[in-house]
Amino acid sequence: RGHILVTDVDVVFDTATGPHVAVQSANLTVRPGEFICLLGPSGCGKSTLMNAVAGFVTPTRGDIAVDGAVVTEPGPARGMVFQQHSLFPWKTVKENVAFGPLMAGASRREADSIARTFLSLVGLAAFETAYPNTLSGGMQQRVGIARALANYPSVLLMDEPFGALDAQTRIMMQENLLEIWQEFHNTVVFVTHDIDEAVFLSDRIVVMSASPGRIIADIAVKLPRPRE
Ligand code: ADP
Ligand code: ADP
Repeated sequence: RGHILVTDVDVVFDTATGPHVAVQSANLTVRPGEFICLLGPSGCGKSTLMNAVAGFVTPTRGDIAVDGAVVTEPGPARGMVFQQHSLFPWKTVKENVAFGPLMAGASRREADSIARTFLSLVGLAAFETAYPNTLSGGMQQRVGIARALANYPSVLLMDEPFGALDAQTRIMMQENLLEIWQEFHNTVVFVTHDIDEAVFLSDRIVVMSASPGRIIADIAVKLPRPRE
């Protein structure tokens, strides 16, 4: 579980000034349990490629399969974490995390239990009855990660999830995310334009460049993690 196959994918957007090639000829295989970073400058197509894997964007050419099934629409099997957490402000932390399992047919009791499991994992068990806007930015992102994991996604797709956090919180979150990954070993695709973040987090860095958005390098990083 957690195998991603991107084959000859182009994504072309229609814009006022004509077609805009955001991603060109992308080919990528991500194996189950891999943690890869998509690295490149702003505008090189990282989000577009990730949104295509998520099912929010339909490739103009080529196709994307997750666990052998062609992706045609978003679904809970591909958990998303965005830069802005997009939690429901009117729901408590626990209700936010329990929402996915409830939608998937779990009972209230089961959903609450799943929510507690993942809130503990991100260190926020004590905040289950809090509302998101009473928490710090870093804590809100952790609720977002718990919410994505509560759907037991086969792949976790993270688009600059720590981009809006201050430097110290970001480092804490990176370490927290690695701990979670070491426990669950989900497939993770992590988008960033920060090379230090990419090197710290992942064993494999896929580099993109702009105009048009292409994958230009796919690098195995076998350095010891710099902060260990
Ligand atoms: P990155 O995530 O690397 O910053 P994006 O994938 O967001 O890059 O964007 C790649 C290119 O596609 C950019 O030039 C951007 O302006 C353009 N783009 C992204 N989304 C759309 C859209 N919905 N419509 C038109 N152009 C878009
Ligand atoms: P940010 O830097 O975005 O404000 P942090 O996640 O660093 O976010 O948290 C900010 C404050 O919240 C800190 O004072 C921290 O001690 C507190 N905090 C964060 N997580 C917890 C937790 N699990 N239990 C208690 N306090 C916490």
